[in-house]
Amino acid sequence: LNFYKDYKKRIDFWKKKSPHVLDALLKLEIILDINSDFRDKAVSLETKENINNILKNGNFLTNSGIANIDFNFFKEVFFKILESLSPKLSYKDIDELPELINTYLNFIKLENDQPLNFEIDDIFSIVHLALKPQMEKTSISIPQPIETEEHIYNLCPVCGSLPYISDLRNENRSRHLHCSLCGAQWMFPRMRCVFCNNTDFEKLGYFTMDNEPDIRVDFCKICSCYIKNLDCSQFFEIPPMPVEDTGTLHFDFKALENGFIKPTPNFIGFIFLQNKDK
Ligand SMILES: [Zn+2]
Ligand SMILES: [Zn+2]
Repeated sequence: LNFYKDYKKRIDFWKKKSPHVLDALLKLEIILDINSDFRDKAVSLETKENINNILKNGNFLTNSGIANIDFNFFKEVFFKILESLSPKLSYKDIDELPELINTYLNFIKLENDQPLNFEIDDIFSIVHLALKPQMEKTSISIPQPIETEEHIYNLCPVCGSLPYISDLRNENRSRHLHCSLCGAQWMFPRMRCVFCNNTDFEKLGYFTMDNEPDIRVDFCKICSCYIKNLDCSQFFEIPPMPVEDTGTLHFDFKALENGFIKPTPNFIGFIFLQNKDK
């Protein structure tokens, strides 16, 4: 599994196609460079369970909380990202970091019923990014689950987090979700809300935008959540999803403007309507 293969090429593609999200793409490039360096060095989190047992019994990260995370490694990534992305933002309270990690993990696992009014600030985006090298390394290192729609999981089979984006692939346009934390991909029904499991098709909908029919925003009128769904059925292989996610940020802004929300961060971190012009 080659994570985010040829991301630079794809970033160049989106820079031309979506110049209005250029700043975000430049930021993403810095993030992916740091991420790939640290992922090479990261050690996979220990999991004694076979992934198919994890699927049956719940996931290992949920079970053991942050105990598995190499905190010193996390700190190193955290400060590297902080100084590269937000040199003006300093973060001195190292003692608070474990608690921030816990809060962040609870948030993206929807452990609190509907944590959608959660007060969240920029520091959580850095926590999110700083966890990725270890989590992605883990995701690469363990055998992937057998592809099946027999069991339906809206939480990641590897780490138990919610997805941030979805794609349709192959001739049958089967839907795959992408984990917001570790990048694992797994199958999920097309006509089902990822966040509340609603399957009433009258309460599910989507919108597209002019000239971009392959990118759609799936939304649910029950929980008011949305997720982008990219039709990759014409692709030879699935493009690097962090780049696709960032190149299509204007779809997120449109969804937010229409009152929909996404409980998980985008790849580059949490985005908010008020940040639109940043
Ligand atoms: Zn995951
Ligand atoms: Zn829903």
